[in-house]
Amino acid sequence: MTMDAAVRLDIPALIGRLTLQEKASLLEGADFWRTQPVERLGIPSIMVSDGPHGLRQQAETDHAALTTSVRATCFPPAVALASSWDIALLRQVGVALGRECLAGRVSVLLGPGVNMKRTPLCGRNFEYFSEDPLLAGELAAALVDGIQSQGIGASLKHFAANNQETDRMTVSADVDERVLREVYFPAFERVVTASHPWTVMCSYNKVNGVYASENRWLLTSVLRDEWGFQGLVVSDWGAVNQRALGLAAGLDLEMPSSGGAGTRAILAAVHAGTLSEVELDAAATRVLTLVDRAQPGLYAQEPFDPDAHHVLARRAARASAVLLKNNDHLLPIDPHQGGAVAVIGEFARTPRFQGAGSSQVNPTRVDNALDALRSALDGRRDITFAAGYTVESDAADAALVQEAVHTAAAANVALVFLGLPPSQESEGYDRTHMALPAQQIELLNAVADVNPRVAVVLSNGSAVTVTPWQDRAAAILEGWLLGQAGGSATADLLLGLANPSGRLAETIPVEYEHNPTIGAFPGEHGHVRYGEGLLIGYRWYDAHRLPVAYPFGHGLSYTTFDYQDLAVTVRIDGPQPQVDVTVTVANTGDRAGTETVQVYVSDPQTTVYRPDQELRGFTRVALKPGQSQHVQVTLGSRAFAFWHNQARRWVVEPGAYAVRVGASSRDIRLQQTINLSGQDLVPELTVESTAEAWFAHPDAGPWLRGQLGDGQWATVLADPRNGQMMRNNPLQRLSRMPHFPLSEQQAKEAVLRFNTRLDTEHSGWRHA
Ligand code: BGC
Repeated sequence: MTMDAAVRLDIPALIGRLTLQEKASLLEGADFWRTQPVERLGIPSIMVSDGPHGLRQQAETDHAALTTSVRATCFPPAVALASSWDIALLRQVGVALGRECLAGRVSVLLGPGVNMKRTPLCGRNFEYFSEDPLLAGELAAALVDGIQSQGIGASLKHFAANNQETDRMTVSADVDERVLREVYFPAFERVVTASHPWTVMCSYNKVNGVYASENRWLLTSVLRDEWGFQGLVVSDWGAVNQRALGLAAGLDLEMPSSGGAGTRAILAAVHAGTLSEVELDAAATRVLTLVDRAQPGLYAQEPFDPDAHHVLARRAARASAVLLKNNDHLLPIDPHQGGAVAVIGEFARTPRFQGAGSSQVNPTRVDNALDALRSALDGRRDITFAAGYTVESDAADAALVQEAVHTAAAANVALVFLGLPPSQESEGYDRTHMALPAQQIELLNAVADVNPRVAVVLSNGSAVTVTPWQDRAAAILEGWLLGQAGGSATADLLLGLANPSGRLAETIPVEYEHNPTIGAFPGEHGHVRYGEGLLIGYRWYDAHRLPVAYPFGHGLSYTTFDYQDLAVTVRIDGPQPQVDVTVTVANTGDRAGTETVQVYVSDPQTTVYRPDQELRGFTRVALKPGQSQHVQVTLGSRAFAFWHNQARRWVVEPGAYAVRVGASSRDIRLQQTINLSGQDLVPELTVESTAEAWFAHPDAGPWLRGQLGDGQWATVLADPRNGQMMRNNPLQRLSRMPHFPLSEQQAKEAVLRFNTRLDTEHSGWRHA
């Protein structure tokens, strides 16, 4: 069939013809995965499916079975894709995901998830991108662009502050507005404003005491009114608490079906007059718009090419692994010469390539590193194998360790595959610690005792501690969870058929106890207070001057890169600045490789607390040996702005900013300071404003000095040191002190003279 055959809906006409009952019924699912049809009026039903890194389409749509979906390509989960820092790649993966949806007649893919990695223990970190909102937002936007380029919708999730699995259904994430705006919202905001996802999925939890599914500020004020979201808001599966309240707050579609309960609640509220038909019509219109948008895709059905998608999954996996260390160039292994290569660890044979829960894909096939190494070396070097451990067992198996030791002792190099057992990482619960299984560390120690030429390959969905064992490994390749082609991609990297280019999207701390959420995770009595505030991830480790095992942005290559000629140019100054950052990067080694240039901004003259530095831009550059290239990153005003909690908007303060360019957050190569004129904000004066604030005010300051004349109070207040104590008094209280030249009444009149009101609660801010 052709696109022309697609049914298109005349939505305004349909809204006019649908009964109240029918309109309300559109606002809940027909079953687990499909929207409600209205056959009488030719309104079809569409299907949605998980997501995010592969299609999890259930053949039967009336239940929640997690592992019986139709076969689909399992691309690397977000934890891995994020380490590629590769926008073009994310788009390509998105296109492939869209094609698989088209082939399966699935209209909306439930992803990506852009919640922040607040704690390394979040059970779902493998599904999320980063501890940095800019990186998460840019990559997720590219993925959404790719998916939606195929006429398939994305569902951006889980909005908002769903950063842990413990009590995820009910916990209240208690977060300061500035922290939401600067840390937990930007990835959502970026995807919404740049890529216009068809749907946004609200989270299960409460945000500052109000369920996300009933949070009008979140779903309407911020999402629609401020960010201009035009699509549909869907509940996470089972996130609805009180349906009518949710609808009024901006939650359009309840999923899955509530067996009519949601419909009845909506109708009751309309009849009771607590919900207007206008609100009902708006939500029904959004459901119909979604159904309508999906129609061409349903008629453009083409099978996808699983082989081509597997090749893409392999390329993506190669770009995602991060080479953490590589002493004495142990890696890559020369495919042509040397003694035996010992491959040790069950994960080499039985790979762990995705996490558990609703994102679990039934892969079209699965590569393992052991077979891939064997076929790549093709008899040129001996490969020996020992399993070393049983994945889910707690205790070391002496016989397996012994076998591994013999295998390693007889080899030239030992590739030791370690990682987290699947049971430790899943949607629905958090991890309890960051350690690798003790039996695996025991195995590593035993192997390293007989052969120090050890390269560890890790499989884990979120950071693990490396400090207790990393001195036993000459090299470490952090493979995260690499999807169904991870095994062959790993072999490509170990053998140097591809050059590692991944960079950490999350810090690996020295120990769990250093992480920002200590004492503030997972919360208690229904609340988790984000006490670390703005200091997520590297922002925290930097602020506390803590050493880390591997910093955010880190990743080695088999070649080396040099940075030169940084130029930072203020192209547009003023309240909305634009700044161009250019630098020349050279490949100074002897292999082709890709460098990720990272731009961090620091605001040393800030009047509010700001993290030491924040990632504000990045770009990748592929270079042949000896080649160099000029790269440019443009920074917009948000690169310099903070969220002003009282002015309730973004503000770029005047003053100096340091623009730092480097290969990781702790490997800054070049830095330049610029001056921005920004926007001077002056607080409105209230009866509580201190004399200091009055003096600082452009109009009130000169006036007050005039009133004080040159008497005793003027002298006291002007004294640079002793006067400080006095200047910290509210003017009105000073006015009640003996001989103060201004009466209390005059102070009050002055407040009204320079502003318009006397209240302290809502003090506003205006331009200087
Ligand atoms: C998850 C979502 C998922 C949905 C449907 C929920 O439990 O939180 O991410 O899309 O189920 O499977």
